[in-house]
Parts: sequence; structure tokens; C-alpha cells
Amino acid sequence: MSLLNPLPIASEMLPLNQSLATVAYLVAAVLFILSLAGLSHQTSAKRGNLLGIVGMLLAVGATVIGVMGGGRLMMAAAIVPAVLIGARLAARLSMDHLPQLVAILHSFVGLAAVLVGLSSHIDPGINVPAGEMLIHKIEIYVGVFIGALTFTGSIVAFLKLAELIGGRALTLPGRHVINVLLLVACVGLGIWYCRVDDVAAITPLLIMTAISSLIGVHMVMAIGGADMPVVVSMLNSYSGWAAAAAGFMLKNHLLIVTGALVGSSGAILSYIMCAAMNRSFLSVILGGFGTGSGGAAAVVEGTTKEFSVEDTIAMLEEAQSIVIVPGYGMAVAQAQHSLAEVVRTLLKRNKEVRFAIHPVAGRLPGHMNVLLAEANVPYDIVLEMDEINEDMSDTDAILVIGANDIVNPAALDDPNSPIAGMPVIEVWTAKTCVVMKRGMATGYAGVGNPLFFKDNTYMLFGDAKQNIDAILKGLQR
Ligand code: NDP
Repeated sequence: MSLLNPLPIASEMLPLNQSLATVAYLVAAVLFILSLAGLSHQTSAKRGNLLGIVGMLLAVGATVIGVMGGGRLMMAAAIVPAVLIGARLAARLSMDHLPQLVAILHSFVGLAAVLVGLSSHIDPGINVPAGEMLIHKIEIYVGVFIGALTFTGSIVAFLKLAELIGGRALTLPGRHVINVLLLVACVGLGIWYCRVDDVAAITPLLIMTAISSLIGVHMVMAIGGADMPVVVSMLNSYSGWAAAAAGFMLKNHLLIVTGALVGSSGAILSYIMCAAMNRSFLSVILGGFGTGSGGAAAVVEGTTKEFSVEDTIAMLEEAQSIVIVPGYGMAVAQAQHSLAEVVRTLLKRNKEVRFAIHPVAGRLPGHMNVLLAEANVPYDIVLEMDEINEDMSDTDAILVIGANDIVNPAALDDPNSPIAGMPVIEVWTAKTCVVMKRGMATGYAGVGNPLFFKDNTYMLFGDAKQNIDAILKGLQR
């Protein structure tokens, strides 16, 4: 059997269709790999996205036409409403709701793996030779385990990102022991599941599904504030492994390849996010490590100095080098288009204008890059934190737009801060720093920010979009 040979779901399949489906699956797998390669850089991201869409259409088309021997009506009954609902939701969705959408989509993949696993247990739908039955059962068990964990974990992540529940870490006493006991129970149930016949095996399978769902909830509840980016990328990875597990159950090799691509790229992203936040992956996923060293964080207080829109315009007109640090508030305010206009105006006046992007700015890996690309900001002036941080002290003016945690000096100065050790953009070392936000609220990590009280920091209060619009008007006068 070739690597990508899709096994028939129904027996009356046409061999020609199957051969075409094999070729289509192969092409789709290559398209997915090219898509991932394209998505790795802003300039090629659109092309990468397009290749992914073509690959997915090909994969679904090949499955429906080449692999399925019947049941197309039922398939259409599932796909058509799903496409309509998905398209409507995507069209209505504003960019600041993207993170929670991604989280909920991960939960669907997890749920799909659970449903595929349970239905595979009841009726495998494929011919499993007696000698491979144990392997098939392990595939089902592992697939349902990862799927249930991804499903509930992603729902909690959705609730946290949508701020429907608090973002603080839930640190139950003895939580690591609880996790270990739950895992041991799952292993024990797995042995039970593999040793009994199919009818009796449904009991351990269902109990394990419940326990694994609990692990998903507990795991994500235990991860607090600033560590959430890792959770998002980790659940992305889990959703990939859940899809791969479903592929094993259905003996669909394209699903295995696709799941492995998502799983491994999500794992790499998690690693990158951990490195960016100076956290060890294990400490993040074990949970409760986003809450500092246990001591009390220093009290943050002082007097702020305010800038008006006119003051900010004067500062920008005087400055030769300008750095803009966008954060989640820019996404909320949808200020990126007006900001791009401000940048174009300043560039026309021969000023050096650059963006500094923190790896966890916003609520989604790459959130700021997506927004700036949407507003057609030239890629070459959008720099990663590591590329620009040491230039901060030589910068005349810094505009912090709706960012908070990513510019918090407490991460470097206060070992008891919940974000201690996280690298931040050192905006306070510049000549003048203007922070644009609506009030004195904390950011996602819920930590006070001493930046607001520094000598060279000025607050420009108000909605970021309204203030940027006013600055643009002033600059163009
Ligand atoms: P923060 O959440 O730290 O701060 C955003 C700030 O924006 C708030 O303090 C808020 O202050 C301000 N704001 C909100 N709305 C507006 C508006 N309309 N106009 C002006 N300002 C506004 O964001 P950062 O980007 O600095 O940091 C990201 C945080 O999110 C980090 O803690 C990160 O770990 C976490 N996170 C990141 C994820 C990722 O993948 N990137 C995923 C999940 C969490 P005010 O209300 O006073 O206006």
C-alpha cells in the first residue's frame, strides 16, 4: 500500500477514482507543506494561505469523489450548512476576535477526534485484520484521549481569551498530584480497554473520555495570564495530533500527514513562544507557573504625566527616529489603518519610523504582524523585539499603542512579578515615550506597570483609534 493510499470507506468504490484520489492526496500533502513554508513569512503568507485552501479543496473533493462509495447526500448535508455558517462567521468576525475563534476551532478538531474514535469503536468502517486489532484499539484510545483533552482545553482557552472567565491561573493544592493520578487512571483504563471485548470496552473508553476532558479543563485553567500564548500554540499542536490520530483510526494517510504537519508546527511554535517568554515548556504546561515566584509583587504606584494629542504631534515632528510598539489595544481599537497612514506621513518627511513587535503582543502568535500587513505597512520596517530592542536607547520618540505587559519593566526588575523573566521591549530607555491607552487598567497578565510613572513617560489617554486619527489630522494640517 502506498504512503498516501486512501483505503475505501465503502466497498463498491471505483479503482480509477481511487487512483485519482491517491494522486490528489499526494498533491494536497505537497500543497500543505508549501502552504506552511509560505506562512512562515509575511511576504509569502497570502500565497501560503491560498495553497492551503487549494490543498484542502482537493483533499475534500478527492475524499468525496474518489474515496467514498456512497453517503454523499449525508456528507453534503453536513458540509453545506457548515460552509455557510463558517463563511458567515468569518465575514462578520472583527480582527480582535480572531484569537478566540482560533481557540474554538481547535476545540472542533478535538471533538471530531473523539467522535471518530467512539464511532470507530462501535463500527470500524474499515476491514481491520484480527492481528491488527490491538493496534487499532490503541489508535482509538490515544485518539480519543488527545481529542477530549484538546476539546475541553480549547473551550477553556476560548472562554479565557474572550474574557468570559478570568485569566488568572487556578492553582489547586496538590494539582500536580491530581494530574498524575488522572493520567495513571487513564493508563489503567487503557489496559482494561485493550483486554476486553468491544462491548465491554466501551465502559473504560467512556470513563477515560470523561477523565481526559477533566485533564484538559484543569490543564488550561492552571495556566495563568502571560503564559496563555503557549497554551494557544500548544492546543494548536494537540489539535494536529488529534487529527493525525483520527487519520490512523480511519486509515486515511492524508489525515495522518496533515495532522502531523499541524502537530509538529504547533509544537515548534510552542517552543518559540516559550523561548520568547523565557519559560521552560514543561513548567508552562504543568501549569500555575505564570504566577511568579510565590512572593508578593512590588506595589506599583506614582504620579503619571499626561500628553495631549498636540503634545504628541509636536514630539513626532521634532523626533528623527521613531519606534512604534503596538499591543492588544491597537487590535481592540482597530487603529492599524489610521496608524499606517500616520507612518506614511512621517516617512514622507524623511523620518526613521519602525515598529517593534513583541512575540506575545496581542492575543495570538503573529497578531500584530497580521494587523499591520492588513493595513499595508511595509514589511521592512516591522522588526521583531530581538532585532530592535538594543536600538531603543538611541530612539527619540516611542509610541506605545495599546500595549502594556510587553513593555512592563517589572518583568526585569521585580523577581516576584508574575511576568518576571519575560523579555520586554525596553521603551523606557528612549528619550521620550508616549503610552496610548484609555485608562490605568492592567494588561492581560493583571500586573501593575511602573513604566507609566517613569520620568520620560507620558500618558495619552483615550481610545487608540480616536487619538491616532487626531494625530493624523494634526500631522496633515
Ligand atoms: P495587554 O493585554 O498587556 O495590554 C493591552 C492594553 O491595551 C490594556 O492595558 C488596555 O488598557 C489597552 N487598551 C485596550 N483597548 C484599548 C483601546 N481601545 N485603545 C487604547 N488602549 C486600549 O497587551 P499586550 O499586547 O501588551 O500584551 C499581550 C498580553 O496578552 C501578554 O500578557 C500575553 O502573554 C497575553 N497573551 C498573548 C497571546 C498571544 O498569543 N500573543 C495569547 C494570550 C494571551 P486600557 O483598558 O487602560 O485602555
